[in-house]
Amino acid sequence: IQAELLRYQKLESIGSLASGVAHDMNNVLAAIMGVATVLRDRFEGDPSVAGNLDLLLNTAMRGRTLVKGLTDFARDRLEDAVPLDLNQLLRQEAELVSRTSFQRVDLDLDLEEPLPKVMGEAASLANVLMNLCVNAIDAMPEGGRLRFRSRGLGEGGVEVVVEDTGQGMTPDVLAKALDPYFTTKPVGKGTGLGLSVVYGAMKAHGGSCNIESEPGWGTRVTLRFPALVVPSPGPEVIPEGPRASEP
Ligand code: ADP
Repeated sequence: IQAELLRYQKLESIGSLASGVAHDMNNVLAAIMGVATVLRDRFEGDPSVAGNLDLLLNTAMRGRTLVKGLTDFARDRLEDAVPLDLNQLLRQEAELVSRTSFQRVDLDLDLEEPLPKVMGEAASLANVLMNLCVNAIDAMPEGGRLRFRSRGLGEGGVEVVVEDTGQGMTPDVLAKALDPYFTTKPVGKGTGLGLSVVYGAMKAHGGSCNIESEPGWGTRVTLRFPALVVPSPGPEVIPEGPRASEP
């Protein structure tokens, strides 16, 4: 419990630092991109200068993507949440994995039907599942089994598990896995933002994300969502005043 609390406090303080950095960094990048765009137009006819400016613009754009990841990690509110069937998102993600993964990945779906709906942002949760699947597939270069599970948790909460039989994480990798920009992947392959974004999205959904992992065994990520709050019908309101039929 103590370790959990420390980890939570660490992520909380990285979160407030992150939103400040993201905000300032966006302004810096906007200024760089603005000036570079003006120069790019002016040097249209000079390929060597224009080429360098394109490189500058692309790099700044990559910076913006990285900052977006930081913002997603630090956000704590949902913008357009609707009641969602998570099984539908899991099936869509399974479809995507089966179409796009090159190595042999056995997909195993164990979905409880019907599953209580949860309040969520479909795009954000699809992104969560995608990040988890990219990690799972990266962890199984020789192939393996990717498993999705969903079940209701009494009182309307829902649990989703994404589990792989990949290489797993050592305790020190696991301890840092949620930190923004922490990656063990080669430059250009990992940004270290995948799990931070998962953490941020689950926090914004009022849920939680728990990771169990062991080298040689694999990794299990458990996402928990709170129950969808259905407003209870209030007392029947009888309109006052004269009725239309009355004279
Ligand atoms: P990235 O995937 O860009 O490295 P993440 O935040 O998604 O960033 O993951 C951080 C690190 O956590 C990864 O580099 C990897 O070392 C480890 N990791 C995440 N998911 C898994 C997994 N399913 N199996 C093994 N290692 C994982």
